[in-house]
Amino acid sequence: MTRRRVSVFGATGSIGGNTLDLIGRAPDSYDVIALSGGRNVALLADLARRHNAQIAVTAYDDCLPALRDHLAGSGIDCAAGAGAIVAAAERPADWVMSAIVGAAGLAPGMAALKQGATLALANKESLVTAGTLLMETAKRHGAIVLPVDSEHSAVFQALIGEDIATVERIVITASGGAFRDWPLADLARATPAQASSHPNWDMGQRITIDSASMFNKALELIETHEFFGIAPERIEPLIHPESMIHAMVGFVDGGIMAHVGPPDMRHAIGFALHWPERRALPVERLDFAALGQFTFRAPDEARYPALRLAREVMQAGGLSGAVFNGAKERALDAFIDGDLGFLEMAPVVEETLTAMAGDALLSGQMTLDTVAETDHLARVRAGEAIRARQSKRQD
Ligand code: NDP
Ligand code: MG
Repeated sequence: MTRRRVSVFGATGSIGGNTLDLIGRAPDSYDVIALSGGRNVALLADLARRHNAQIAVTAYDDCLPALRDHLAGSGIDCAAGAGAIVAAAERPADWVMSAIVGAAGLAPGMAALKQGATLALANKESLVTAGTLLMETAKRHGAIVLPVDSEHSAVFQALIGEDIATVERIVITASGGAFRDWPLADLARATPAQASSHPNWDMGQRITIDSASMFNKALELIETHEFFGIAPERIEPLIHPESMIHAMVGFVDGGIMAHVGPPDMRHAIGFALHWPERRALPVERLDFAALGQFTFRAPDEARYPALRLAREVMQAGGLSGAVFNGAKERALDAFIDGDLGFLEMAPVVEETLTAMAGDALLSGQMTLDTVAETDHLARVRAGEAIRARQSKRQD
């Protein structure tokens, strides 16, 4: 069997760890080219040694000396900075996992596509900020993008052998996150620690908080629209507290294909790793009789304004996704730092979208530069909105 060259960006994170868990189970099948991480350089070096990577890259220049120390004597190259991550993504590879969190994941993913690699895309922010650009780049370079977000992997699998023109609706399920059963009145006082524990999924802190606010689901609605080209009004969020059905695709004949599986990301990651084949994966097998029932409820859009904002962003199109994501990331930073209340994140994002709606930048072309510029501006504007709220509180 020929060995496949693989790279994992965001290797020290939750998705990165699960990806390397699968790769490590069949070490004779893969050559690990590049691994990237952020501040957790001890783990990055450990992973690079364990998987015999060619190069390990940290996102931060000030972390390079520590990374170099941890790799001493290993013969593994090391580098630092966003540019070095892109350079690592340019190293020839057959399969690349995009699992950096946030807009920083876009440029490495684009670089991987440009060299024709198959891109396993966990980084939903790539599709939200630059969906058209990403999909067109893949097409131009004959590269394949495989969704790794569980809902989108589910839709992808339900569509195998189907004609996309026969799709009537796509239902994207949501667990409801940490606060699904909290009274609305208590949400204003919710702390980052409370928002950081998920009822069903074990994920990175940022996506876990985004699950509680439904910003994660909002990003996923946009992701569905960008990846599958389905009209916004045909994409429905649905609360399903058990997190066993990941998505459902409804066809014109009234039939619905639901994808069911345990909440373990190694299913979606493994599907993308082995695609177009299906291979055995180390995930739990479901016992339906023991589970007893699946339940559903409609999401309350008053409780989750992020869902309404996502619809507005899909209607506006273009660079508005980059505004939405940049403002959301800035608001999330402020919530984590204790500078913004849980319920204030959505208003800050909405104020940023409104403030930037007429900006000439947004009617321009979508390139990596204009996406980065829009992202930066959105963070600045959101920062202003956050400060305005802080000074109002102090009055
Ligand atoms: P984690 O927070 O667990 O990991 C994020 C990774 O990105 C880490 O390797 C981190 O490094 C690195 N990183 C952080 N900031 C930067 C930066 N500025 N530049 C480069 N690298 C950086 O996140 P998850 O694994 O949970 O999520 C990764 C992506 O996958 C996100 O886009 C998320 O939405 C998506 N996703 C995640 C799911 C999950 O189950 N976790 C499910 C579906 C989608 P370090 O920790 O060393 O600082
Ligand atoms: Mg998801």
